[in-house]
Amino acid sequence: MLKHMQDALEAREFVLWYQPKVCLVSGRVLSAEALLRWPQQDGSFISPETFIPLAEESGLIAGLGCWVAEQAIADCAAWQAQGFAGIGVSINVSSVQFRCVSLSERIADKLGLTGLSPGNLELELTESLLIDDDEAVQQELARLSRLGVGMAIDDFGTGYSNISYLSRFQAQRLKIDKSFIMPLADAAADDRLVRAMLQIAASLNFRVVAEGIETQDCLERLQVLGCSEGQGYLWSPAMPLAAWLDYLAANVACAVPPGDWIHAAQGI
Ligand code: C2E
Ligand code: MG
Ligand code: MG
Repeated sequence: MLKHMQDALEAREFVLWYQPKVCLVSGRVLSAEALLRWPQQDGSFISPETFIPLAEESGLIAGLGCWVAEQAIADCAAWQAQGFAGIGVSINVSSVQFRCVSLSERIADKLGLTGLSPGNLELELTESLLIDDDEAVQQELARLSRLGVGMAIDDFGTGYSNISYLSRFQAQRLKIDKSFIMPLADAAADDRLVRAMLQIAASLNFRVVAEGIETQDCLERLQVLGCSEGQGYLWSPAMPLAAWLDYLAANVACAVPPGDWIHAAQGI
C-alpha cells in the first residue's frame, strides 16, 4: 500500500473533493471542506481513514499535505474568480505535517500567488495537534494565525478530556464530531452532550459546526439548540470540483456576499 501510495502521489492520482458547509440560521452556503480521495482503476476509492494514518506513519503526509493545501487554495481562488466570492475553503491538517515542512511558508506563498485572502482559508486541526507541546508545531500554528488564516478544532468531543487548550488557542470554530450529531436524528436520543458542547463553545466565543447532519429532523433539533453551522449528507456528500461548482451555481442565491468568510459575523 505504501509503494502504491508513493506511485499515486508521483502520478498525481489523488484528488480533492468538496463538501458544503452551511449557515444553519440563514441556509446560506459558507464554504467547503476539502476531502482527499484516492480513486482506483476499478472505479472504487480507498478511504482517507485507511490511507491517511499510513501517510502519517511513513512521512508521505508531508508531500501529500502540501499538495492538498496548494490545490485547495488554487481551487478556492478559481471559484472566487468565477463569481463565488466569499465562499471559503477548509483543509484538514495532520500534526506530522508541521514537523516535516514549513507549511506556513508554503501556504503564504500560494496565497500570494493566487491572491486568495487568508481569511478565506481555514485549517481543521485535531485536538491532539493542539495539545502537542512541540515548540515547532506551536510556532507554525502561531505563524499561520498571524497570517490571518482561520483555525477550526475538528472531531471535537472525541479522544481527549483535557480541554484546557481551548482557551489558550486562537481558533474561531469547533466542529462537533459526527458521532455526537448523527444520533440526534432519532427524536428520542439524548442531546445533553451536544447541548454541553454548545455551551462550552458559546462561553469561549467559538462558532460551532455540526458534522454529519443527514436528516431534516436532526437539522431542526440543532437549530433549536442554537448551533450556527453544519455540514452533512442532508445537503451533499463531498463531490468532485466540477460538481461543487454546479452546486454553487445552483445555490448562488444563498452565497455569502464578498468579504471575509472566517471573520464574517454569522452569530453563534
Ligand atoms: P473529517 O475531517 O472529520 O471529515 C469529515 C468526514 O465526515 C468526511 O469523511 C466526510 O465525508 C464525512 N461526512 C460528512 N458529512 C457526513 C454525513 O452526513 N454522514 C456521514 N456518514 N459522513 C459524513 P472522509 O472524507 O471519509 O474523511 C475521513 C477523515 O479523513 C477526515 O475526517 C479527515 O480526518 C481525514 N482526511 C480527509 N482528507 C484529508 C486531508 O486532506 N488531510 C488530512 N490530514 N486528513 C484528511
Ligand atoms: Mg475535517
Ligand atoms: Mg471531523
